[in-house]
Amino acid sequence: MPHSIVTEICEGVADCAQACPVGCIKQSPTTNSKGNIFFWINFEVCIDCGICLQVCPVEGAVLAEERRDLQRSS
Ligand code: SF4
Ligand code: SF4
Repeated sequence: MPHSIVTEICEGVADCAQACPVGCIKQSPTTNSKGNIFFWINFEVCIDCGICLQVCPVEGAVLAEERRDLQRSS
């Protein structure tokens, strides 16, 4: 199952995007309600390696499941 980034928790640090081995973590063109640029995971490309979850410094920003209700892309 793909991983997800919780849009409203992400702080836009981008450690995950740099670490993802398949480059499926993208920057949103908009900001979340905290005013932060956020990132999102392309579920169709994610290989479920878990690296993004390991490197993200923000608790709760990455989930090891596909949550279309919590992750938006724009
Ligand atoms: S998910 Fe975590 S590492 Fe990735 S951009 Fe958001 S806060 Fe940064
Ligand atoms: S689980 Fe792996 S492939 Fe999927 S978004 Fe995270 S780092 Fe990328």
